[in-house]
Amino acid sequence: MRNHLSALEAAVSPGGMLTGSDIGPRYHTDTFGRSVPAPEAVLRPASTDELSRALKICHACGLAVVPQGGMTGLVSAALPRSGEIVVSLERMNRILEVDRAAATMVVEAGAILQNVQERADAEGLMFPLDLGSRGSATIGGNIATNAGGNMVIRYGMTRGLVLGIEAVTANGDVVDSTFHYVKNNTGYDVKQFFIGSEGTLGIVTRAVLQLWPRPAERAVAFCSLASFADVVSLLNQLRTSLEGRLVAFEAMWESYYGIAAALPGIRLPLSAGKPFYVLVEAASASQGEVVPLLESALGNALAEGTIDDAVLAKSETEARSMWHVRESALEVLGLKRPFLAFDVSLRLDRMEGYLADVQRQAALICADAFVSTLGHLGDGNLHVGIQYPGSDPHMPDRLKATFYRVTGDHGGSISAEHGIGIDKRAYLHYSRSKSELALMKAVKLAFDPKNILSPGRIFDLGEN
Ligand SMILES: Cc1cc2nc3c(=O)[nH]c(=O)nc-3n(C[C@H](O)[C@H](O)[C@H](O)COP(=O)(O)OP(=O)(O)OC[C@H]3O[C@@H](n4cnc5c(N)ncnc54)[C@H](O)[C@@H]3O)c2cc1C
Repeated sequence: MRNHLSALEAAVSPGGMLTGSDIGPRYHTDTFGRSVPAPEAVLRPASTDELSRALKICHACGLAVVPQGGMTGLVSAALPRSGEIVVSLERMNRILEVDRAAATMVVEAGAILQNVQERADAEGLMFPLDLGSRGSATIGGNIATNAGGNMVIRYGMTRGLVLGIEAVTANGDVVDSTFHYVKNNTGYDVKQFFIGSEGTLGIVTRAVLQLWPRPAERAVAFCSLASFADVVSLLNQLRTSLEGRLVAFEAMWESYYGIAAALPGIRLPLSAGKPFYVLVEAASASQGEVVPLLESALGNALAEGTIDDAVLAKSETEARSMWHVRESALEVLGLKRPFLAFDVSLRLDRMEGYLADVQRQAALICADAFVSTLGHLGDGNLHVGIQYPGSDPHMPDRLKATFYRVTGDHGGSISAEHGIGIDKRAYLHYSRSKSELALMKAVKLAFDPKNILSPGRIFDLGEN
């Protein structure tokens, strides 16, 4: 290992490799505070060439590596495992180019999402990927996880917001797929192999992002509703009446909203006690358009009895305060630690039956289990938290196994947007067929025959 480390240090520019006590906890601790032993080395390449040289050495020596962005991932994928070297993209964080006419931006993979959003805004444009972790998450991490977030209902997931990618594969080869246009039917769409691959097929170094026109105005409202059927009706009414201006539709069950009030700093926009709450955001290209439109749509929904009550944010501060209720999910669920957080997709017409089943099956394992639900409902994405008493060390595994089995039984996806990583790989078969798994493994072997890039994430090559 020592010889390899010297070679690696020579491959990167000064400050490009950390070892020993220079490796801070952030390279081996995740967003939940889970910590693993420090890696032998952290590589911090400053350019694609440096990364390419370093990976050639790792490949020749059979050294496993794991790429890291902002470490906000929720499935333990970026935590180094025994013997793995960390590759952090933190020194490759520049915004390289903005083309206002074409509405594109070229960034290095370590660029922080919020910096990208702010730069787009300064250019009169918008990068519409938005997550609660925007202040730390990186574009490389967003690409590797195909991140979703708050505005997927209008702008799609990361997969649809990336026009081109540069990545370095396991053997150090640089794959240049940095196209700047949407249409390109010249064979396989190479960038898509890397998007959502959780660092297993290559390390993304650069991306060409698709920007959007910046809305001139936004309107945010909070509603309470009596039934799930009403939530679905409201979604469809708003889709129709706002004509493409609906950008977020976030549902919160009373099981979440009711406990959110206990988190310091949260101000509930409507009183607790109703079965459902929905945060709605609409945006438009012209001033003075979307507020009256949303007001009128909610007025109609109130008159028809679809919603029980509604409040429209009168200022940016009020809008942020409403979003804070939704975006504090991890903190709210953590109020009664320990908890398990799940991220699933389902057909809308299966959700009620599914959640009743989850509740029933969780109670069979643990009478005190408390199931709390919220989610990007417009995308069919639920975030489910299960809080449980911490006395039984086997409880998390039992709850997880049951939860994912029930999700599979209801035809759901066990990961809507967070990925599989290490945490969910034992349950991947509930959402993917044998033939799909075989194909995924063949792709992995074609890109990385020595299995040195993020080994064991998504699946283990040895498993059936
Ligand atoms: C408060 C909070 C809210 C969140 N909300 C959402 C949400 O709404 N939607 C959503 O989708 N996610 C959400 N997340 C999860 C997380 O923020 C995303 O998965 C994010 O895309 C991870 O980016 P990162 O830079 O932190 O990646 P990391 O956590 O560092 O890494 C994540 C994965 O990407 C790989 N990776 C990182 N950089 C690269 C690279 N350059 N090349 C190849 N692989 C790489 C890692 O190896 C790992 O597999 C949330 C997390 C938190 C803490």
